[in-house]
Amino acid sequence: MIISDYHIHSSFSGDSVEDLDRICRKAKELGIKEIAITDHMDLDVIGTTNSNDFMLNLDEYVPTILKLKDQYKDDLDIKLGMEFGIQRHLGEVGDKIIEKYPFDFIISSVHSVDKLLLDQKEFWENKTREQAHDKYFLEILKSVENFNRFSVQGHLDFITRYGGIDKKGFIDYIRYQDIIDEILKKIISKGKGIEINTSGIRYNENRFYPCDDIIKRYFKLGGEILTIGSDSHKASDLGKDFKKAYDFLESIGVKYISSFDQLDVSFKKIK
Ligand SMILES: [Zn+2]
Ligand SMILES: [Zn+2]
Repeated sequence: MIISDYHIHSSFSGDSVEDLDRICRKAKELGIKEIAITDHMDLDVIGTTNSNDFMLNLDEYVPTILKLKDQYKDDLDIKLGMEFGIQRHLGEVGDKIIEKYPFDFIISSVHSVDKLLLDQKEFWENKTREQAHDKYFLEILKSVENFNRFSVQGHLDFITRYGGIDKKGFIDYIRYQDIIDEILKKIISKGKGIEINTSGIRYNENRFYPCDDIIKRYFKLGGEILTIGSDSHKASDLGKDFKKAYDFLESIGVKYISSFDQLDVSFKKIK
């Protein structure tokens, strides 16, 4: 049984055309009781990509999701969420925006470094893979330090998806262990969580974001807050590969995942 899917995009995201009703119907069909709609807001991004694609009109988005929440309240618990594209200089800006609306759940995701989206070639020019990965992890650390109103850190090591064939590859966990430890400790000390993002399996990386070692380390360091999200941009990807995530968590002795209401965390047992 799928308990909840905490990372879902709809047509409010520039990179999705999915209809919200279809998402809700699909969730019901799969027997999912709880979903978080987490459309993109990425501020202050320059370069070739149309940055308007990642703007989110909150005055339209928030009432739409709240209406949907009410409409489905008898059989689906819909959370008002957002995936906020964090950069180290946007912590305060993000906090102020989020404070104005009744959000249940916020994913903090580093999609850009130096205002360049990671899927743009400009970010990768004149950098080795190691230099790019170094910059990326440092950006996460600085962002976690500067941002407060978020629930979980999104797809913590998903940079391996980008950079072209010669730059892709597994996260060299040993090389990055120290900075990853710093990031995880900071997340834990702020009372925040991480997500298991199952999209890595769909993107042929055959792993979750983050990788198993990072998830294990988070719990070893005392972390307790974890959501699982499909990062679906179409309804047919809802809840994909969640069984693998539950099995993995069971294998490492984790018994609970998290739920959020108005940014407050509670826990649900994995059955
Ligand atoms: Zn993302
Ligand atoms: Zn996403």
